[in-house]
Amino acid sequence: RRGVSLPDPAASARDRATRTAELAVQVDGLCKSFGTNVVLDGVDLHVTEGQVVSILGRSGSGKSTLLRCINLLEIPDGGRVQVGRHRAFDNGHALRGNDLVKLRQAVGMVFQSFHLFPHLTAIENVALPLMQLRGRDVSKAIAESLELLDRVGLAEKSKQAPHQLSGGQQQRVAIARALAVNPKVLLFDEPTSALDPESTVDVLNVMRNISSDGMTMIVVTHELSFATEVSNRIVMIDEGKVIEDGSPTSVSRSTNPRTASFFKFFD
Ligand code: ADP
Ligand code: MG
Repeated sequence: RRGVSLPDPAASARDRATRTAELAVQVDGLCKSFGTNVVLDGVDLHVTEGQVVSILGRSGSGKSTLLRCINLLEIPDGGRVQVGRHRAFDNGHALRGNDLVKLRQAVGMVFQSFHLFPHLTAIENVALPLMQLRGRDVSKAIAESLELLDRVGLAEKSKQAPHQLSGGQQQRVAIARALAVNPKVLLFDEPTSALDPESTVDVLNVMRNISSDGMTMIVVTHELSFATEVSNRIVMIDEGKVIEDGSPTSVSRSTNPRTASFFKFFD
């Protein structure tokens, strides 16, 4: 029997599952510098549909830049970025015009500072993309917006303006608005960093619910509890490179001194 390798049925089933899982986001060899400051130095990140990936790393390590390269808020210098079937950046060429609009629809984004339209009510903030990007008429947009607000626990606040809402409520409206375009992936850039502990819990619970509905999510966060309990995978960025990519358990036990000191810092 020596030298004969028998197929392991479990392993080949796993291979099949990995191969058939569709990639929602593919980032290969991504490079981005600002002047002489090399921020991303060959970053690879493949995210399958339904996966929730937490991105960790020190301040200034390039986490926001990575997210912003995925929806072309920042134009990469090199590498490849694909979202679903949208080739955002390939062979030095970035999508433009109508193709860029379609890419942006495939990528919902939630920012640290909410970025709601201040002169619109909660429901109007959510209804706007439904009308502008998905062609809903007013009454349909309002009905769908109410459902989305209900999903983030804010149906009863639909008529409030952003300044009448707490930070956590504003962030939940922002999440409902990001969901309104029916994105392929949702990007979160430190969504709870501006919030008090109570609001943070509310927002993290909404994110947990969305993830269990199967949404693909890439979340830059300092919330280790979210990273280890909700996400399936943790990616650590350091000095422009991915230094860890694995399950929360394996990454949190990493012996890499830079990773270990990061986790210790949050202990
Ligand atoms: P992080 O989100 O991990 O804190 P960022 O991606 O925001 O890091 O920033 C990474 C580095 O890139 C920092 O040194 C920052 O100063 C620089 N940077 C980010 N955006 C710009 C920009 N638009 N112009 C110049 N430098 C930038
Ligand atoms: Mg940032």
